[in-house]
Amino acid sequence: PDANAAVLSTIRDVPGFPDPGITFKDITPLLADPVAFAAAVAAMAEPFAGRTDKVAGIEARGFLFGVSLAARLGLGFVPLRKAGKLPGRTLAESYALEYGEATLEVHQDAFQPTDRVLVVDDILATGGTAAAAVRLVRRTGASVAGFTALLALDLLPEWPGLADVTTHFVLPRS
Ligand code: IMP
Repeated sequence: PDANAAVLSTIRDVPGFPDPGITFKDITPLLADPVAFAAAVAAMAEPFAGRTDKVAGIEARGFLFGVSLAARLGLGFVPLRKAGKLPGRTLAESYALEYGEATLEVHQDAFQPTDRVLVVDDILATGGTAAAAVRLVRRTGASVAGFTALLALDLLPEWPGLADVTTHFVLPRS
């Protein structure tokens, strides 16, 4: 639809960032465009309305979309943070990066066991970050309603860590 074309037109390809040979999708022009941003959030939320109880956003860009989506759905928001940032008792999940490892943490008491949690990020690449977020939410005892993002990069035909997760993307793979 036209709304998605408007969203797509705001995402800027930056060749050579952060390293030579990589083209980075820059979403800052989307954040700066209130009409396109509202359309993006609406489209990210749409399949999950009435099917989810809390929204969990992945630091950092998943916070921007996640908080907006939670407000739109009338739900609470939970941050999935990089290691060492949350003050309370936490659970942690590590995942592989191209060089090294990263860890996401969540407060142990962030969810109720009956919560169906929608996990949010901006862009999916290898799927490793999203898979760690899903494992983390499940370890709290809550269930995962799905994963939603703007788009998935066209890197892999499938994401092994997300095989049993409903995934939704606003834009075609690119
Ligand atoms: P993955 O773990 O390989 O799927 O990488 C996804 C994570 O890296 C997400 O948290 C994204 O925000 C970030 N990411 C990867 N590639 C891009 C990009 O081209 N633009 C913006 N964020 C990206």
